[in-house]
Amino acid sequence: MLLSEIGTTGQKRLADATAVVIGVGALGCTAAGNLARMGVGNIKVVDRDRIELNNLHRQILFDARDIDQPKAVVAAKRLKAINPDIKITPILKDVNFSNIELIIKDATVVVDGTDNMETRFLINDVCVKHDIPWVYGGAIGTYGMTFTIIPHKTPCFRCFMHNIPAAGALPTCDTVGVLNAIPIIIGAIESVEALKIIIGNNELNRSLLMYDVWKHDFQSVQILKNNQCKCCVEHDFEFLHVKKRAIVTALCGRNTVQITPIQRGEISLRELYNKLQRLGDVKLTKFTVIFKLPNYELTIFKDGRAMIHGTADENLAKSLYAKYVGA
Ligand SMILES: [Zn+2]
Repeated sequence: MLLSEIGTTGQKRLADATAVVIGVGALGCTAAGNLARMGVGNIKVVDRDRIELNNLHRQILFDARDIDQPKAVVAAKRLKAINPDIKITPILKDVNFSNIELIIKDATVVVDGTDNMETRFLINDVCVKHDIPWVYGGAIGTYGMTFTIIPHKTPCFRCFMHNIPAAGALPTCDTVGVLNAIPIIIGAIESVEALKIIIGNNELNRSLLMYDVWKHDFQSVQILKNNQCKCCVEHDFEFLHVKKRAIVTALCGRNTVQITPIQRGEISLRELYNKLQRLGDVKLTKFTVIFKLPNYELTIFKDGRAMIHGTADENLAKSLYAKYVGA
């Protein structure tokens, strides 16, 4: 409140706002942590993954005790401990076209903590459709970038990224690594952009900011609105309006395929555990069943989603899913 840029009015706006942080990896941990400390009244943290050892050097809400726990649940617990006076909602889901509108419908701002382009295009479609500002962020190796999108006022994400790059075309944190400071810097910038959006400040980042923390190379690239943009001009929300029964995604560089059934209620993890016990090494936790085969490992969540580790072959993953979880 002492800071003249915010003041008591700004602080009140923060308390009334809802921020949705999609993905609580390194960017999301930093951004969500800052937003909680700033006093944003409602924060939703959305993530589909569980915590792995190789996350701990950069994902600052987690520590060694949390390995194998769901990121959304642990993040919510830590954020609540940081600021008990705000409301935190963990959402342990894969964000996709079937659920994203429900997840972000009451958002004042959406913060990108994802690690993949497909979800960013989807966020862009939905935020433009519903006129919700969002902050893009990405980091890899020693560099990162961020861009702030106010639908119909600034260029959108698709104005400069016309289509999803081909699979394998982009490096990933799992193929080239990431220096911990860079997503923390970018996540911090994202949190400040979200803050400015919430309090109604106009001094937003209007360009694509790129920073290399190793070389100290800082660039600010002007982005122009594309007058033929499929998303913000033609309103053709093709990432939102797809029709599929299940979403099968090979997670690039991770030798893992994710399978997300679209229309399916919650499954009984206990029953699944009992069923799989006869077939191999299986572990039941509060949120998952982890089933180990000689060459593969399946992590199955309550909503029927599964991660098939040990293969990048989508068809093989689908058949393992059908075999052990049920199609
Ligand atoms: Zn656009």
